[in-house]
Amino acid sequence: MNSEIIERSNRVFTPAFHFYHPIAIEQGEGCRVTDVEGKSYLDCASGLGVLNIGHNHPRVMARVAEQLPRFVHTGGVFYNETTVAAAELLTKVTPPGLDRLFFSNSGSEAVEGALKLARHVTGRQGIIAFSGAFHGRTLGAVSVTSSTARYRERYHPLLPSVYHSPYPFCFRCQFGSDAQGCTLACLRFLEELLRHSISPNEVAAIIIEPILGEGGYSPAPSMFLTGLRGLCDEHGILLIFDEVQSGMGRSGDWFAAQGYGITPDILTVAKGVASGFPLSAVVASSELMNRWPTWAHGTTFGGNPVSCAAAIGTIETIRDEELLPRCRELGARALERMHALQAQNPVIADVRGMGLMIGMELAEIDGTPASKTCERLLNECLKQGLIIINCGPERNIVRFIPPLIMSDAELDEALDIFAAALGTVL
Ligand code: PMP
Repeated sequence: MNSEIIERSNRVFTPAFHFYHPIAIEQGEGCRVTDVEGKSYLDCASGLGVLNIGHNHPRVMARVAEQLPRFVHTGGVFYNETTVAAAELLTKVTPPGLDRLFFSNSGSEAVEGALKLARHVTGRQGIIAFSGAFHGRTLGAVSVTSSTARYRERYHPLLPSVYHSPYPFCFRCQFGSDAQGCTLACLRFLEELLRHSISPNEVAAIIIEPILGEGGYSPAPSMFLTGLRGLCDEHGILLIFDEVQSGMGRSGDWFAAQGYGITPDILTVAKGVASGFPLSAVVASSELMNRWPTWAHGTTFGGNPVSCAAAIGTIETIRDEELLPRCRELGARALERMHALQAQNPVIADVRGMGLMIGMELAEIDGTPASKTCERLLNECLKQGLIIINCGPERNIVRFIPPLIMSDAELDEALDIFAAALGTVL
């Protein structure tokens, strides 16, 4: 029974270790999971944006099965070919020039690595991040996170010399501007910050999610990222793209950086890279990475051979099954249907996204976030067999992140259920 597992879970875990939905799964395959009571669900949450090629993809399972009987851990003791091959494959799909990496286990760890690398090689301390961003839960990562103050509460003092500048979240522009005005105002704010709060020659890095994730599923305008690239080049500041969520095909390119045509100095990769096995990476140019010496950073589990076998299977699948164009095609199909729903339902205030990283913002007529409606909607979806989750500081944004391997029929089924659930809760 779901309830029996949930009761046991509540007795053994702290409430901080929490789950979105009150079901326990028994089996996952492709785009579907079955719970312990035998009910089947279409999964449009993809394990928080991790299962880009679905649950238990046969090519990933085969690579893992090959690796398991050989050895499962090397730590920092031995070299092994699987980990090297995974790194070689990954650096074939990262943006141009980003050809050397450090493997770790989680998105937060990759962010920690990126910040440490930036400080180490520049000899500068300052870090600029964007309000609304999510970069993780460890102390360094949470210092650059500001998607909600709740994540930072009672952890101060956080990392010093971290400054936040407004993210160009144009639908809810902090300056009350339209999209173009929002971009310019956000760039101006950043320039003022560099004039008044920290000199550019003391800033090691600017870290940004090119597509805002947990903070609201909102792609940055291309002009903003171009502006950032220029500012960084002018002042010798390293530009970090945190693509933990938007990477590995989710945006319709391997990385959103490629879609924008803007190459960061440092890239963080996690979530989708190994289809559910823990793996993350900090990626940068050889020139930069060669200045990060042995002992400056380290790991016990990073580059685990089983996770790396899964990463090889994942990258090969996205490449061979041509899932990047497929992602763009499915994303366009989903957006079209969502815009049609928006035309009929004023509670859908905005629909936006890239590839299969789509946000649907729910708001009341006066613009206040419709958080309760969103919660009821997601619960109703679950009842009707669709797993979908939300995001944003007010939890009023539906985030649509199905696996890239979805068939047209499955996508239509998901959106049919979504539309029916919307009809029920409104
Ligand atoms: N960066 C981004 C952009 C993320 O979306 C997340 C996770 N949602 C993280 C970092 C942190 O990753 P993890 O939970 O694996 O530490």
